[in-house]
Amino acid sequence: MDLFFIVKKYIIIYLIILNQLLNINLYFMKKSNFISNQIYKDIKKLNIKILTRFPPEPNGFLHIGHIKSIWINFGIAKKFNGQCNLRFDDTNPSIEKDIYVKAIQEDIKWLGFKWNGQVKYASDYFEQIYDWSKYLIHNGKAYVDDLSYKEIHEYRGTLTKPGINSPYRNRSVKENIDLIERMRQGEFLEGNKVLRAKIDMSSPNINLRDPIIYRIRNIKHHKLGYKWKIYPSYDFAHGQSDAIEGITHSICTLEFEDHRPLYNWFLNNLPVPSKPRQIEFARLNIQYTITSKRKIKLLIDLKIVNSWDDPRLSTISGLRRRGYTPESLHKLCEMTGITRSNAIINIKMQYHAIRSNLEEKAPRAMCIIKPIKLIITNIDKKYEEILQIPIHPKKYMGIRNIPFNKELWIDIDDFMLDPPNKFYRLTLGNKVRLRNAYVITCNKVVFDKNGRVYNLLANVDFNTLGVNPKGYKIKGVIHWVSIKHGVFLEIRKYNNLFKIEDPEKEKNFLDYINYNSIEIIKAIGEPYLKNALPENCYQFERVGYFCADRYDHNKEKLVFNKTVNLKDSWNNYANI
Ligand code: ATP
Ligand code: MG
Repeated sequence: MDLFFIVKKYIIIYLIILNQLLNINLYFMKKSNFISNQIYKDIKKLNIKILTRFPPEPNGFLHIGHIKSIWINFGIAKKFNGQCNLRFDDTNPSIEKDIYVKAIQEDIKWLGFKWNGQVKYASDYFEQIYDWSKYLIHNGKAYVDDLSYKEIHEYRGTLTKPGINSPYRNRSVKENIDLIERMRQGEFLEGNKVLRAKIDMSSPNINLRDPIIYRIRNIKHHKLGYKWKIYPSYDFAHGQSDAIEGITHSICTLEFEDHRPLYNWFLNNLPVPSKPRQIEFARLNIQYTITSKRKIKLLIDLKIVNSWDDPRLSTISGLRRRGYTPESLHKLCEMTGITRSNAIINIKMQYHAIRSNLEEKAPRAMCIIKPIKLIITNIDKKYEEILQIPIHPKKYMGIRNIPFNKELWIDIDDFMLDPPNKFYRLTLGNKVRLRNAYVITCNKVVFDKNGRVYNLLANVDFNTLGVNPKGYKIKGVIHWVSIKHGVFLEIRKYNNLFKIEDPEKEKNFLDYINYNSIEIIKAIGEPYLKNALPENCYQFERVGYFCADRYDHNKEKLVFNKTVNLKDSWNNYANI
């Protein structure tokens, strides 16, 4: 009996502590942004388990804007110990494809997110959504309209002028049911009939002026083939799919704010199993970047870029190929925050996010972009030393072997015959340190027959490896590669694809393309770069961050994409 009471006492104490922990946890979840605050309130009031969803339309690859949406939907679910569904919004068969379905899944996984259960599709619910359209008809809340798309548009009115009722608005339930069934059978041509919700043609919200909820489309659906001849509109499928899945919070971008009354109208007028709450946030827009699948597709179709994963594009696969890491993209989302005011983000924030991540984790290597020969005069031709240098200066990532010998490449930009003040790199008679190696003194310049600098001759001071020289100070450091051992690299450097900061805003955005957005150059890298695998990122010391191309890089041909510069004039976070 005693034992029973002791066990009972401990169970009660355990439950009290657990309850407190859960509450504390909830308290920490609350802070930070308006979406979390709303969800926190809902959890307190309704004691619900959070379920969000990311609902891409499979009509292209995902871009940087979608990263924000993914980060918010998956991130918030995780924060509140909930889940996030992946649901393809596949209600428009003319532009949706299976290759996009696959690419989108791959991108989300690469970003490090895991969706709840199976991948879902709005088309999984077409039968139910169709039944609900009949439910509306039975309740006098939907009708088949014979007006053309053009007439429907004209009858809809404007912000200052109310709409006009369609002459077909008062068809009987029986006639409407008969017509929708025949529409489903494929008896009518596209555009001849639509199903509309019967709401209010004089509503100040144009979305409520009898929106089209079904249209005829006799084309192949990526998943269902020719099964359906009619398709629900986005508005008639989205909220209903949310409700079927039991989504608690349907988080979307601000342009859907005006659709929220319609979203709620459907939920309130249909026998749905749950009532999700829609919350809107501001889209992510970044300088010099297009964030619209349709426009990106146009760039590909016009061959302005090569493919969806062209490193000049801010698609997830383009950013990945360029060398962006999932961590850096998460960080960018964090830095730009969750707001309700539309702004355009300074691209320097994006650069900062990847630079700070690669600074921490990218192995170092030396690479010469514009080579000029440096001959060390006080060592023999056969002299060869292997310098063992840490792969990363701040944390242990192993050692790399760098051969040092008589003939080296250095970068022509690191030498000046007639230097200005404070030029601390190489000049005639000057001393610099060869990075990771010795101090040298340049004692002769050899010119070619056109009078251009051809070779540089220098002396090495062997007492300076890893230590400061005795009796003099060194201000400059330059990088170098042994001519005998260096490996050839193809370097692809990128500039912004647009010449203006906000191409999204321009109707004729194609007028602002920068046709010099890619430059391919040859370079020479230190030998251990031949072991680089596709997608390995490096800091080329004093030059920038580079990433071995995901597709074109191999043992025979070393191809690196420039990810970002080493430094930026990083002091103005404009627009935050
Ligand atoms: P696109 O014009 O690129 O096709 P979309 O909004 O039509 O954009 P969807 O596939 O429907 O693309 O988007 C899925 C989700 O991603 C939506 O909830 C949408 O609000 C969100 N989203 C799209 N673009 C952005 C953006 N720039 N910033 C934040 N979220 C975005
Ligand atoms: Mg869309």
